[in-house]
Amino acid sequence: MSDFLFSEAAVRLAAFVGIFTVMAAFELWSPRLERPEMTGALKSRRWLANLSVVLISSLVLRVVFPAAAVGAAVWAQANGWGLFRLAGLDPLVAGLISFVLLDFAVWLEHVASHKIPILWRIHRMHHADNGFDVTTGLRFHPLEIVLSMLWKAGIVVALGAPVLAVLIFEIVLNGSSMFNHSNVALPQRLDRVLRRLVVTPDMHRVHHSTIHRETDSNYGFNFPFWDRLFGTYIAMPRLGHQGMEIGLPDYRGALTARLGWMLLLPFRALRRR
Ligand SMILES: [Zn+2]
Ligand SMILES: [Zn+2]
Repeated sequence: MSDFLFSEAAVRLAAFVGIFTVMAAFELWSPRLERPEMTGALKSRRWLANLSVVLISSLVLRVVFPAAAVGAAVWAQANGWGLFRLAGLDPLVAGLISFVLLDFAVWLEHVASHKIPILWRIHRMHHADNGFDVTTGLRFHPLEIVLSMLWKAGIVVALGAPVLAVLIFEIVLNGSSMFNHSNVALPQRLDRVLRRLVVTPDMHRVHHSTIHRETDSNYGFNFPFWDRLFGTYIAMPRLGHQGMEIGLPDYRGALTARLGWMLLLPFRALRRR
């Protein structure tokens, strides 16, 4: 199992580096917004802080829960756990259903992160970013990464989700987070078609608005269906993409890109939202 998990980590790392490089290059070639936070020295400062958080979160996860969701799937398979195995479901069907249900589980977790104060304390570090680009899609507090992994692993074991489906889901989730946070200008017609199937940057950017009603919308990461289904979909920010303010109203400026401040944010008192 350790050999498998090592190669699984290598595959995930390769996918991460590949997708990150493509999105970062696309941002330089065709940026959607050109703001101080997303260009020049401020961008460098944000990138350093956001990428440091990814590194720390990955290391913490490796120490606390090295098996992760894929390891949980391997364990469930070895021990015959899960609803799908009990039901004798075909692995391909089980894989497809697992992918959709895991995406719904991540959507639910995201909604809970906004509604439950202790989870919001942790999640708000993601929203405190005053910019919005590929590195924002990686900026999650180590506590959030560990909690999220425990939640996904629990679902994987309960379902008996196939190992390959979980591996693909993890790679796609990481890749879609980099894509839907990227500062890329997609042609409007392409965005309109794409957002029927996947969450696009213009759709997720609404979720990073400083306007509370907009922050509490568009929770999806992979599929846009859940927000449309549960009435949390907002097509456009009220002030338009060029006019909207990004981040949280209480946390502005260079402070939000300081690593120590970011890591301590869950332990600061909640402010009125
Ligand atoms: Zn959020
Ligand atoms: Zn986000």
